[in-house]
Amino acid sequence: MIAVLKPGTTEQQIENLSNWLRSQGLDVHISRGSVHTVIGLVGDTSKIDEELVESLAIVDSVKRISEPFKSANRKFHPDDSVISVGNTTVGGKDFTIMAGPCSVESEEQVMEIAKAVKAAGATMLRGGAFKPRTSPYDFQGLKADGIEILLKAKKETGLPIVTEIMNANHLSLFEEVDVIQVGARNMQNFELLKELGRTRKPILLKRGLANTLKELLMSAEYIMAGGNENVILCERGIRTFETYTRNTLDLSAVPLLHELSHLPVIVDPSHATGVARLVKPMAMAAVACGANGLMIEVHNDPDHALCDGAQSLTPDAFAQVSAAVAKVRGALEESK
Ligand code: PEP
Ligand code: MN
Repeated sequence: MIAVLKPGTTEQQIENLSNWLRSQGLDVHISRGSVHTVIGLVGDTSKIDEELVESLAIVDSVKRISEPFKSANRKFHPDDSVISVGNTTVGGKDFTIMAGPCSVESEEQVMEIAKAVKAAGATMLRGGAFKPRTSPYDFQGLKADGIEILLKAKKETGLPIVTEIMNANHLSLFEEVDVIQVGARNMQNFELLKELGRTRKPILLKRGLANTLKELLMSAEYIMAGGNENVILCERGIRTFETYTRNTLDLSAVPLLHELSHLPVIVDPSHATGVARLVKPMAMAAVACGANGLMIEVHNDPDHALCDGAQSLTPDAFAQVSAAVAKVRGALEESK
C-alpha cells in the first residue's frame, strides 16, 4: 500500500503518520520526490483502514500495490534510485561501464586490463574471483587471492571493483569490494540474498538463465526486505532455443524494468551473446533502449583466456565499443 502525501506536508506530520503506521506493525518506507512524498507500507496491510488514511488532511491518495514486489516497485519510489559506488554513481543520469576479464587469472593480467579499460572510459573494474562453472573440472577462480589482486588494481587505478559472491560464508572477504555480484545461477539463492540484505553493499543482481522479470524483481525484494536498498539489476540474456548465441538478450527487459521499478538496470551483452563481435551492436542497442550501464568482458589475450575467451573483447575492441556507446548517448541527449 502507498499513501501519496499532499505537497507542503511538514517533516513533523510525516514523522507522526509514520510512527502511527509503524505502531500498526508495518515497515514504513518514505520516498521524497520532487513534488510528492510517498509513504510505502510493507507487511500485512489488510488491517489498515484505507478510507481512514485517505481522509487524513495530509494524504492525497491511497493505493494498494497489486504486484508482489513492494520496495523495488516504482510506485513506492517514483524517482529513479541512484546508488553511490566509490566516487561514482549508478542510475539516474550517470552511465556505468563495468569492464574487465571474466576471471582474475594473474596480477599482471588484471593490471594490464584495468589500466586499458580505464583509459577507454570504464567506470568500474569487473573480474571473477569465485567462478560458477558448469564443469567442476574447469578453472574455479583464484578465490581470496583473486580478490586481493582486484583490490591492488583498484588501488592502482582508482576504479571501484565488482566481483561475484557464491557463498555467504565468504562475505568477510568482500569488505573492500565496492559492488557484490550475484550471478545468474544464484539469482534465487534466497539464503544468500537474505544475507546480502543484511549488508549495505551495492549488489549487482543478474537475471537467472530462465527467470521472468517478476522473479528478478522478487529476488531484488529479498535483498531490500533486509534493509539493503542498493540493488542494481542486470539483464544478461535468457536461455531460448537459439543456438548461434549463448543466450538471447531480452532488451525489452530494460524499458519494462524501468517502468516496474526504480532500480538501475544494466545490460551484459557479453554473457548474453557469447560472441565477441556481437557485443558492440548489442551494447549500442542497450544504451538506446535506456540501460543505465553495461558490463563487458575484456581480456588482454582472449585466445588464451581461462574462461569465456570467445565473448571477450581485446582492450582495443573495448575502446571502440566505449566510443560507439558515447556516440549513442550523445544522440539520445540531442533527441530529448
Ligand atoms: C559473470 O558475470 O562472470 C557471470 C558468471 O555471469 P552470469 O552469472 O550472468 O552467467
Ligand atoms: Mn564470464
